[in-house]
Amino acid sequence: MVLDAREDFLQLRQLNNFVLHIDAKRINRRNAMSHKGYCDNCGRETKVVRLPTGGGGGVFLCRGCWAKEMSWRKQRNKTLAKSSRFSIKKYPG
Ligand SMILES: [Zn+2]
Repeated sequence: MVLDAREDFLQLRQLNNFVLHIDAKRINRRNAMSHKGYCDNCGRETKVVRLPTGGGGGVFLCRGCWAKEMSWRKQRNKTLAKSSRFSIKKYPG
């Protein structure tokens, strides 16, 4: 009886780990792709995508703010040394 209960417990734990693993994968995919959320720049609730900002950080931006950020970067890059220029990324959504 005691052993059976322990096995059940272990199986349940394994199942739980499996579910957590799936969730983490889904969350990662959600971060990479566009989804409905709040834009970190303008605060509008709309379709947003994650722009990595380095060091594991990132911001969620709507299409308009993404475009603004990229045109700001292009302007900035004109006055920056090659080694410190921002990368220009196409809106992935
Ligand atoms: Zn925005």
